[in-house]
Parts: sequence; structure tokens; C-alpha cells
Amino acid sequence: MAITGRPTRTAALVERAERLFPGGVNSPVRAFRSVGRPPLILERGAGPYVWDADGRRYVDYIGAWGPAILGHGHPSVAKAVSAAAADGFALGATHPFEIELGEAIQAAMPSIERLRFTSSGTEAVMSAIRVARAATGRDLIITFAGAYHGHADGLLVEAGSGVATLAISGSRGVPEAVAGQTIVLPFNDARSVGLAFERHPARIAAVIVEPVIANSGVIPPQPGFLEHIRETTRADGALLVFDEVITGFRLGRGGAQERFGIRPDLTTLGKVIGGGMPIGAYGGSAELLELVAPAGPVYQAGTLSGHPLSMAAGLATLAELTPDRYEELEARVATLAHGLAGAAAETEAPVAVARFGPLMTVFFRSEAPRDGAEALEADRAAYARFFGAMLDTGVLLPPSQFEAWFPSMSHGAADVAATVDAARGAFARARG
Ligand code: PMP
Repeated sequence: MAITGRPTRTAALVERAERLFPGGVNSPVRAFRSVGRPPLILERGAGPYVWDADGRRYVDYIGAWGPAILGHGHPSVAKAVSAAAADGFALGATHPFEIELGEAIQAAMPSIERLRFTSSGTEAVMSAIRVARAATGRDLIITFAGAYHGHADGLLVEAGSGVATLAISGSRGVPEAVAGQTIVLPFNDARSVGLAFERHPARIAAVIVEPVIANSGVIPPQPGFLEHIRETTRADGALLVFDEVITGFRLGRGGAQERFGIRPDLTTLGKVIGGGMPIGAYGGSAELLELVAPAGPVYQAGTLSGHPLSMAAGLATLAELTPDRYEELEARVATLAHGLAGAAAETEAPVAVARFGPLMTVFFRSEAPRDGAEALEADRAAYARFFGAMLDTGVLLPPSQFEAWFPSMSHGAADVAATVDAARGAFARARG
């Protein structure tokens, strides 16, 4: 995308990036296409702030798309990573840090008796599904429209996040035979789950769910919905997979499963547990995880799995995540959400602020959506204007209506107040 105005370092870098990477980026949402702005090049972060290649500072709500729960460059995490780096990087055998981080996760999530580290959330979900299929001897999986579970072939059908941002229903290059194994249902629609199991008795390997959707913006489950899926899967002999790549250690140490008191069969994790370094993990009962090679017949591997630097960053991050810090974070996000809703009301902008715990989204829609289809009805053009107006005042929001905001524990009362202040003008500008 051409950048107009005076030449800047950002513009020059963007031009070079466009000659290298598809769309100029290494992950689609970074291209800022749906907000009609040239992409940012970010080169530094500290606490709640990031700086672009021209030295402009922004209050950041992208939060590295989830990992940065402590804010950027937290000193104890930086120290742990530097110390680990001094001892070499990947060494090619089990490192003590893998055991320590594994034990911390096991202690926080009782459903995880055994786990395996991967290098990304995508790999974690892909592998968990392989285990579910192996354990049940079934092929079909159920997902919910507007959720995102990474970019494995069978999971790109009616997905959220970048797939929704680009307004595509899936991805080219996915064989029909693979897409045909995925049944996509509306989130929060218990009846359709029941019907799918009636239609395909003893054929569904797993239901995979983001317990709180955070990839169409934030959409919490309606009371009883997750319980219904738990009961329905159990009755049919299918497995329930909670994709807690976002919610794990974000809604609290025990994630959504602790919050809702539901024990999934398999859990996938990523983001926060790696403190900003590449990571993923999947876990569940000893019986299920013993199916994984070399203990069992399900193959899954990774040269860089359990990378010592990721483990070190994860351990240092988890060490900071105490119950009182979660409480403070949630209170601060509640203040932010309340302030934004108030600012929207002052300008009579048709806006709903959805929040679940520390996750939130400003929807340009008069009511918060209950499923992915309703989220897609939000006014993306208004969001784009809002995004641009906020950016101009130094507040960096996710560059898509369909991404959750990730305020961090380093966002102070002054950052929240500045954000609400900026939003007063931005809501007016969003009206077009
Ligand atoms: N599951 C969920 C719920 C996610 O939000 C994401 C990434 N946003 C993934 C899986 C995939 O993780 P990764 O990008 O690390 O592959």
C-alpha cells in the first residue's frame, strides 16, 4: 500500500517489506488492510507502550496478540531470557525448564495430567485433534463459526481472526475432503450441537471450542452453553477440546476451565505461557496423552519444541501472575470498558463494549454479538475510522473489528484515562 505524505523511515521499511513478504507481512492482520491504514513497523516495546520506526509512541492494546499480559519487555522476563541465552539456545534434549514450566501448567489446570510443548498454537490444536481422532477412532470435528484455532487445513472453515478480517469464508488450498471433516455450528446455539450429534451419532471425534470466543472480538458463552457441550460430548463418546490459547493464564491461572468449572478432555495453550516467545502446548488426561509418540502411536514432534528461551520466558511470566495481579487487571479493564461505553454514549455512537474478565472489544453494533455471524454485522468502516482516530492520538488498537483488545497488567490508571479521553473524539470521528 502506498504511503502518502512526507517520506518516513516507516514508509521506506514498508516498501522494502512489500518486496519480501506477501502483503508486506509475516501474518495477515499486521497489514492493517481492513482499517485502511498503512501498516506500522514497531521496533520497541516497554510496559504498555510500543514505538514505531519513526519514534512515535503508542499506548498498545494489541499486546502482541495475547502473550504480553505483563506488558512489553518486562524486566524479569528479559533477564530470564538473557540468562537462558547465555547457556546456549536449543540443545536438542529435554531441558530442566521444560519440566518446571510443565509442572506449573499442570498445577494450574487439573485437567492437564500430561502435556506436550509445541512451537505455536496452531501446532498444539492440530496435534490435539490428531489425538482426539486416534482416541475415538472417528474423523469428524465440530467447530464454531467465528472462532479461530490456528491455520491447520481443517480449521480454516468459517474461522474468525484474520480469516474474518479478510472477509473470506475459509482458505483456498484446503482439500474438500479435509474441509468436509469439519462441521461448523453457530456459537451459543446448544440446539444445533444436539442436532449435529443426532445426525452423526458416534462419528464425531471432538468438539473444539474457544470457551470465550476472542477471535471475532470477544463473545462470551451464554450460561449453560459450555455445560451443554460437555454433557453432549460425554454422552456420545466424543471429546471436548478447550482451545485456551488466548484464555489460558489470561482469565486467571486456571483459564476458562477454572472460571466455568468445566473439565475438558484436552486443552490447548499458547501465547501467555511463552511470555512472548514462540510456544504452544496441548494436554489432558494421562490416558489420552500416552497415545502420543514415543509413548503411543500418534506421531507429533518439533525440532524447537520446549525451546529453553521460550520456557524461560514462560516461567518468568507465570511467576508474576498472582491472583491479586489478575484482580487488578480485571478491575482496570472494567474501568476502561465502562469509560469507553460512556464516551460512546455521549456521542450517541451505536457501540457495544463487550467484556469478559480482562478481554474486551468495542463493537460498532448496537448490541454485543452472541455468535460469529452477529459479529460480522458490525460496522467495519466505522471501526476503521475509530481505529485511525485513536492511532492519530497515540493509541494503538487491534487493526480489525474482529480482534480482542489485550490490556496488560502494566496499563496504569493514567493510560486508561488517556484512552477514554482519546475515544471521546474518536467516536465522533467514527460516525463519518
Ligand atoms: N487458537 C486460538 C484461540 C488463537 O487465538 C490462536 C492465535 N491467535 C491460535 C489457536 C493459533 O496460535 P498461533 O498463532 O500461535 O499458531
